[in-house]
Amino acid sequence: MNSYWTNSVEKHKYGKLEEDIKAQVCIIGGGLTGLTTAYYLSKEGVEVTIVEKSEICSHTSGNTTAKITSQHGIFYKYLIDSVGEEQAKQYLKANEKAIKNIEKIIEEENIECDLEHQDAYVYTQSNQELKKIQDEIKALHSLGFNSEYVEKIEAPIQILGAIKFKNQAQFNPIKYAKGLAEAITKRGGKIYENSKVIDVKSQDGRYKIITENGNVIQSKYVVLATHYPIINMPGFYFMKMYQSTSYVIAVDPKEDIFSGMYINSETPTLSLRTTKNGLVLFGGMDHKTGAKIDLQDSYINLEQTARRIYPNLEVKYRWNTEDCISLDKIPYIGEFSNLMPNVYVGTGYKKWGMTTSNVAANIITSKILGKKNRYEDVFRATRLKPIKNYEELGNMLKEVGNSLILNKLKNPHEYLKDLGEDEGKILEIENEKIGAYKDKTGKIYLIKPVCTHLGCELSWNNLDKTWDCPCHGSRFTYDGISIYDPSIKDLEVEILYTKEV
Ligand SMILES: Cc1cc2nc3c(=O)[nH]c(=O)nc-3n(C[C@H](O)[C@H](O)[C@H](O)COP(=O)(O)OP(=O)(O)OC[C@H]3O[C@@H](n4cnc5c(N)ncnc54)[C@H](O)[C@@H]3O)c2cc1C
Repeated sequence: MNSYWTNSVEKHKYGKLEEDIKAQVCIIGGGLTGLTTAYYLSKEGVEVTIVEKSEICSHTSGNTTAKITSQHGIFYKYLIDSVGEEQAKQYLKANEKAIKNIEKIIEEENIECDLEHQDAYVYTQSNQELKKIQDEIKALHSLGFNSEYVEKIEAPIQILGAIKFKNQAQFNPIKYAKGLAEAITKRGGKIYENSKVIDVKSQDGRYKIITENGNVIQSKYVVLATHYPIINMPGFYFMKMYQSTSYVIAVDPKEDIFSGMYINSETPTLSLRTTKNGLVLFGGMDHKTGAKIDLQDSYINLEQTARRIYPNLEVKYRWNTEDCISLDKIPYIGEFSNLMPNVYVGTGYKKWGMTTSNVAANIITSKILGKKNRYEDVFRATRLKPIKNYEELGNMLKEVGNSLILNKLKNPHEYLKDLGEDEGKILEIENEKIGAYKDKTGKIYLIKPVCTHLGCELSWNNLDKTWDCPCHGSRFTYDGISIYDPSIKDLEVEILYTKEV
């Protein structure tokens, strides 16, 4: 499951941290948030170190659809209603500025990353949604933003209406990340790959960042750019954020491609864009990560949708990834917690992290340099505002409650002998819940289906063959390796052979 982006670039490899070091700023996580923050800080002469658990830009940022836009679906009416016009304006301007900032970095650093200017559209094919589109246009106009209502688009889809944001952009995120990394190291910044951070300890006004193999980075400032924060308390992000998975296929349409970037306003979501070499990306099939649903057909359904538009298409790549969504739908950027001074965070980008990671990098850089950033208020990570998204809050608390208590009492009463090849399940064995996966050779991998993050019960993902957490979105391979934050620790695994069972 490699994204088109991953396959299009030969990445530079950075070494593992194998000694204790000191840094002015330690950035944990080498996605676009970590890299962009390191870039701006290194330009200011700050000595930065990035520690990345796998390879830079290999996680969400390397599996995105990489539309660079301030059009975050239908969002601004909601934003005005929940935080008022002033803060909604701040959000919009910050993201518009981010587009310009990204273009400036690309130009100044001469980064070849397939940047293309494109208009962005959010469209509907449903009568009920049309009112939402019209209300959104009104909201955008009240913010002084010049968006346009259109009834025709270039993509080969029949629509009822759409909102057009002019002059947005798209690129190849891994090529961009590679350019950022080169610009950082050129200015003396250090990047370590395959160096998982397992703890951050405060000591005498500094922090000790401890990696899996026991090395320590001492630093005054820490940036948690791990996508989902790896520190649970303080911060309590696990109470205010969840993760959502989406699927992408890159197809050769065997026809001319269109210009523009598109997303519908209804569900299921359908997102479209093209690449410079003539592929069309279809994204969608979103679901809450860890949801107890059958995922087997996720790519097939997406392909069927694509085939209705391009009957002769050829699927070239398919992949999926997840992003964090805060309960009030506004990203968390800035001070991580009032109880951890000099620790900063950027998360909760709700699948619009190309611009938002740039916004985060600017705000965090300003904070570390002791400056005020004009866009910081709306994103404040330590905000204590009532959450108006009651529906999701209820769902989340229910999931946590179910996973921690109720589901431990309800059991499916199944046995290992019934486990088919390439099948995973939660079984009850001697009053204990066990997660079991049998591979094609008959090897059975047993795990305790309890997330190492906060103890929620894991569910089986029958598409990717992973154990996924419905509470906060951590994911583990069938043999227990932690692949998605916020979990840090792997699951313990026991391996059995069918004939011994
Ligand atoms: C399918 C999909 C499509 C999307 N499309 C778009 C789009 O078109 N436009 C848009 O604006 N946004 C889009 N997004 C959202 C965007 O991709 C993300 O918001 C953004 O990439 C997040 O960047 P990040 O740097 O915060 O996280 P990441 O890229 O996930 O980076 C975090 C890094 O931290 C590392 N890490 C984690 N834990 C540790 C640890 N313990 N120690 C060391 N390192 C650690 C990880 O390995 C990772 O490399 C999409 C998201 C999805 C799911």
